[in-house]
Amino acid sequence: MSPEDTAAFIQDDADGYAAGLTDLDLIARQSANAKNYKDRAAQSATSVSLTPEQRDAVIQAALRADAFYMSCVQEPFNGRLIAAIPWVFAFTSDISYEGGLPHTRSNIIFLSTDILSTSKEDLAGTLVHEKVHIYQRQNPEAMSEWMGNKFYEPFSKVKERPSSSDVRSNPDMNDWFYAKCKEPSPISMPDSTAESHELRPRQAWILDNCEAMGAYYEGEAKDPEGNMVPSNPEKITDVRKGTDGPNEHPYEAMAYEVAGRFGKWVRGDGC
Ligand SMILES: [Zn+2]
Repeated sequence: MSPEDTAAFIQDDADGYAAGLTDLDLIARQSANAKNYKDRAAQSATSVSLTPEQRDAVIQAALRADAFYMSCVQEPFNGRLIAAIPWVFAFTSDISYEGGLPHTRSNIIFLSTDILSTSKEDLAGTLVHEKVHIYQRQNPEAMSEWMGNKFYEPFSKVKERPSSSDVRSNPDMNDWFYAKCKEPSPISMPDSTAESHELRPRQAWILDNCEAMGAYYEGEAKDPEGNMVPSNPEKITDVRKGTDGPNEHPYEAMAYEVAGRFGKWVRGDGC
């Protein structure tokens, strides 16, 4: 996407990502409010101009990622399906949009120019991970089935959390927070029109039997005596140890697992 299209996408916020950020999300992103967040992000898009070498690095990495999908991946999805998804990239500069972390929104993979200087294999591995998220967004039914089979139980709706929530927002997740269970919940999901209170019996079972997923903000700062004390997050990655990565959401668990296999394939250890 051109810098102008990227900035317009961010300002439109059609997926409601900026509008849905919590108070701690905004603090971790050094933004006063959603408008300020979008302005800074759009600015970080319009200030990018890629060198021919950077452009080439992204193309080579995308080809490498698709080669892995074509030759190596049969589950949890047919790799040919994901290789056939067109690549759409948007670029931003430095860390001022989403801390410079690679992520997806709609059918677009967002990359900070900072990440283009990582090694060829690391960049390709990042693209393998991010393309899983594009597949997930385009295949919600297949994802529901996969999550059901793995006993990931939907717990509560992301959009219904309070603005005081300490769970980090992540554009790669779907509309739900999940818990990882050892068996399927005996209380099935009410239909999608259900009110929040109708979810409560299920939630009570999940709290007793499963482990909640989600990355919880946790900041630390030095007090005047130099002791470390709890404080607001200074960056997006200031979350409680072990709550991020594959433990943040089932979609992340899948993306990390598949990208891990790419690492193996690159080392010549098979699929
Ligand atoms: Zn991810």
